[in-house]
Amino acid sequence: MSHLFDETIVKAFSATISEVAKTALPAAVQDVLATPRLSDHLARTIEREVEQFAETELGVPPSLRFTDEFAFFDDYLRYAYESTGMSQKWCSRWWAHGSVRFRIRSMWLAYEALARKEPATCDELFLRTIGDHHMTLLTGEGSPMRACDTNHQPGKPLKSDPVEGGAS
Ligand SMILES: [Zn+2]
Repeated sequence: MSHLFDETIVKAFSATISEVAKTALPAAVQDVLATPRLSDHLARTIEREVEQFAETELGVPPSLRFTDEFAFFDDYLRYAYESTGMSQKWCSRWWAHGSVRFRIRSMWLAYEALARKEPATCDELFLRTIGDHHMTLLTGEGSPMRACDTNHQPGKPLKSDPVEGGAS
């Protein structure tokens, strides 16, 4: 769409906008000022802005909700996906399965990125778009932990022979 006439159009409405703003604006501001715990909301907004500035402009490491994938699992994931019985494939030594630890670490990093971007909705978004996908794979019939029914059975990485004749 062309913006050639933007200024002209704004000028045409300016008298009306100014007139309405005289009464509507103070009322709207009063409504916002009446928000319960407004100072707390403002303080959180300022804190987020400062953290974002420090991270993007100053290179300060972001503050994380969990220190590592182990804390993420212990304090978040195992509550979000509790045990559902015998058909569920899971090993209490999940961290000894390289591919499981890899996925849980990936989920933790994705969660932290979401938590910084969308603090209010990150849990729902994470569970729906990331957690449900990976946890279904990790606890289902194709789980890398399916052999650990009674005791831990170490997994093996996928086979890979040396490339013949050099990679090209
Ligand atoms: Zn195991």
